[in-house]
Amino acid sequence: MTLATNLAQVQERIERAAQRVGRNPAEITLVGVSKTVGREVVEEAYRAGLRVFGENRVPDAEEKFSPLPYSPDQGQLHLIGHLQSNKAKRAANLFDMIHSVDDYKLAVALDRHCAELGKKLPILLQINVSGELSKEGLEPSQLTENLEKIAQLPNLELHGLMTIAPFVQNAEETRPIFRQLRRLFENQANSVKMYKWRDLSMGMTNDFEVAIEEGATLVRVGRAIFQ
Ligand SMILES: *Cc1c(COP(=O)(O)O)cnc(C)c1O
Repeated sequence: MTLATNLAQVQERIERAAQRVGRNPAEITLVGVSKTVGREVVEEAYRAGLRVFGENRVPDAEEKFSPLPYSPDQGQLHLIGHLQSNKAKRAANLFDMIHSVDDYKLAVALDRHCAELGKKLPILLQINVSGELSKEGLEPSQLTENLEKIAQLPNLELHGLMTIAPFVQNAEETRPIFRQLRRLFENQANSVKMYKWRDLSMGMTNDFEVAIEEGATLVRVGRAIFQ
């Protein structure tokens, strides 16, 4: 199957999942996770209509996206993988959004580099909802404390939360994880007034439709598009 066909099918599945629960499909942004493909395939995906790309490693993203394969106002690049503080400067420079902020010190480093760049950077806090030891992310119980501190950093825009569900055969089993992330998101929205608090990044190839039914605004889909 061609990439353009894959992309059209994913977009159609996003629309149908949204409609099932009475959501407007326009609220949902597809982040095409291009980590397994090179710049040529990224360009092909862009020509096929994909506008937001996700990468999980800074060096790979630099190799593929500098210079950008699209004009800066036509596309976006999101970091979805774990970020170490020593790469915060390069990440602040390259990405339009970081989904994987999971540490106050990292947020401070990003904020400082954004100040130097004169840039406001949208971020999400990654939450380890499932409690799996192998997963990065803040524990749900650490959320409020970190949020209050990170919300003070003037060059970061807190847009919401992100999680990675455990890999399971039946996507339906991920529903409670997504529901819990949404509950955490809504609790914070009520307690802290945050201008741009609007995004839930959840759902991958295996489970993006369930995530949309549970309120995802950003779905991170790799294999269904690029394999
Ligand atoms: C690789 C990756 C994805 C995409 O996974 P697929 O199963 O290929 O859709 C989404 N989110 C993160 C954090 C990833 O590392």
